Amino acid sequence: MRSDMKQVFALCDMNSFYASCEQLFNPAFRGRPVVVASNNDGCAVARSPEAKALGIKMGQPIFELREYVEKHGLIVCSSNYALYGDMSHRFMLALAECAPRVMPYSIDEAFLDLTGIDSVVSYLDFGHHVKELVRIWTGLPICVGIAPSPTLAKLANHAAKHYPATRGVVDLTDRDRQRRLMHLTPVEEVWGIGRKLSKRLDALGIKTALDLADSDPKWIRDHFSVVVERTVRELNGIPCHSDLLEVAPAKQQILCSKSFGAPVTDLNSMLAAITAHASRASEKLRRENRDCGYLAAFMSTSRFRTGSHYANQQGITLPFPTSDTREIVRHAVSIARSLWREGYRYNKAGIVLTDFRVPGACQSDFFSQVEDDERNRKLMRTLDKINSIAGKNTIQFGRQIHKNQSWQMRRENLSPAYTTRWADIPVAIS
Ligand SMILES: [Mg+2]
Repeated sequence: MRSDMKQVFALCDMNSFYASCEQLFNPAFRGRPVVVASNNDGCAVARSPEAKALGIKMGQPIFELREYVEKHGLIVCSSNYALYGDMSHRFMLALAECAPRVMPYSIDEAFLDLTGIDSVVSYLDFGHHVKELVRIWTGLPICVGIAPSPTLAKLANHAAKHYPATRGVVDLTDRDRQRRLMHLTPVEEVWGIGRKLSKRLDALGIKTALDLADSDPKWIRDHFSVVVERTVRELNGIPCHSDLLEVAPAKQQILCSKSFGAPVTDLNSMLAAITAHASRASEKLRRENRDCGYLAAFMSTSRFRTGSHYANQQGITLPFPTSDTREIVRHAVSIARSLWREGYRYNKAGIVLTDFRVPGACQSDFFSQVEDDERNRKLMRTLDKINSIAGKNTIQFGRQIHKNQSWQMRRENLSPAYTTRWADIPVAIS
């Protein structure tokens, strides 16, 4: 890239992603209000435009929605992450077809680097091209916001979603347009500001995005933080987040836990759940290319149910840092046994791994065999490879498979894995 060339970013963001996936594969859902529920069908995590129009809020508990189901034909879907994950992958592939540098930001949004593209095609035409390609490849609707910094691209995308006249694409490379839009945008809606910061800013007379853009960056750094200072620069079209986007910060901790679909009352079911979480956490740890030096396990009953409450957590410093599933499972199970108290109805359990180390950087014990260590790592790599090719849990630990699977998630309205399981492929009826 020439150094005198101004950088330009496009933020491509799916509209109501999970709800759109459900409507895509079930034509009867189209044009009707649809919400997707969180794990265990707890609360709404996605809403179709029709559901938004009914006034259903993000995070609203599902049990509150019965009235909408009866009066307005609201459809409630359990979250189907196999489907959303696969559609997300297809979305990213379509974007990679459009631009050489794609920076995925979440499951349903990614930044493209469009620097220099305007010598070939206008930004607006390019945005519509991306939108159309994604529609053809995935069948899903997106909006595109184009601007000289990621923070402004976020604002542009927000505008594309809210003003139908834009037909889903906003080119915000022009400084006057940026200022006009920022003037209309409450400071709370700026990427990374949020409610708490916006209250403090408001007290200082900074009410709109434009007020923030016109603040002195140095003053902002002294009174807030270097992160807010970066936001001020970004609002002035100076990209500060562009490098951060490509490398997610290294994780400090891995937590695997879930509420049980039905209360767990026997030790074997609890150990099955703990083993599953420990296996999953170890796999994540290896993906980060780290060993962990500390492991904790926890379990609890529900605070919201009648009956006696019990919650406990216990951790240990491992004799040697490791990412070996067998080691982690062994320690997790022994902690779980000591935490277990008979006679309670448990609703949650989980595993936390911390104190990360780079593998091999730590002095190993005098008695341990280096060759054994390499052999064990090889075994774990093979395990990960098989599970990644043949599907997760193809190889799992015996304890994890327990007859009583009540600890698994409750997913009463789960749609089929349309795109990732042969038996679930949709059939067209003519
Ligand atoms: Mg979205």
